[in-house]
Amino acid sequence: MAQTPTAASSYPPEDEREIKNTIVLFDVDQTLTIPRGKATPPILALLSALRKKVPIGYIGGSNLPKQQDQLGDAAGTDVRNLFDYCFAENGLVAFHGPTSLGDASFIQSIGDAQYKLLVNWVLRYIADLDIPVKRGTFVEFRRGMINVSPIGRNASQEERVAFEQYDKVARVRQTMVDRMRAEFAHLGLTFSIGGQISFDVFPAGWDKTYVLRYLPEERWATVHFFGDKYVEGGNDYEMIVHPRVTPHRVDSPEHTMRDVIATFFPEGYVEEKA
Ligand SMILES: [Mg+2]
Repeated sequence: MAQTPTAASSYPPEDEREIKNTIVLFDVDQTLTIPRGKATPPILALLSALRKKVPIGYIGGSNLPKQQDQLGDAAGTDVRNLFDYCFAENGLVAFHGPTSLGDASFIQSIGDAQYKLLVNWVLRYIADLDIPVKRGTFVEFRRGMINVSPIGRNASQEERVAFEQYDKVARVRQTMVDRMRAEFAHLGLTFSIGGQISFDVFPAGWDKTYVLRYLPEERWATVHFFGDKYVEGGNDYEMIVHPRVTPHRVDSPEHTMRDVIATFFPEGYVEEKA
């Protein structure tokens, strides 16, 4: 992966930036990018300008390679050079610059026997589900969670959009989550509906607030967080309502840009041309 040699050095050290004891964190899908899409050059330029004033990071549910695709610039700069903190898989895979802060695993947490019962239940439930289309990859195992999709993660972009619309009325995901919550109450799991076609299942407390353990209050008095799934049940909700967090409820990357400019560039913002 090509590196921009000046990427890291063009920012002051974190504690010498203008806005003190503060970090600004962003969700990825629909906050910095369209769902599964790439960040546009204007939002990357704004993030770079913001980073000169205050340390920044992102928290996304996907893995780091996917986030590299979505948040990397045209030059292919390592995403860990574009943000001070990178929190992949909701923070279970955490980096401060190039330095790994740790990782955790779902199976380690609940054990293989319980995990198998859970996956068997999911596959049986989806097999009996009557929805307009089904594709493939109904359960995706990730380090810190399982991602369950009634339509299947192999669905095309068009099929994803159609399912999201259908699900708003049919509430396929919400109904399934309610059933699972009752069935597996003893496992202490959290269910989070995010994105267009799926929901995440993970141990309680392993939502996006997991990252706060890496951002001690003594060092980071103020934590800003921008997220689009800010309604209860959405995957940004726990961060949005957390007492340590200054919330920014946004509905699109354009909305994020307007809010960032209004909040952090009171003097006005002019995009710097590279
Ligand atoms: Mg989002």
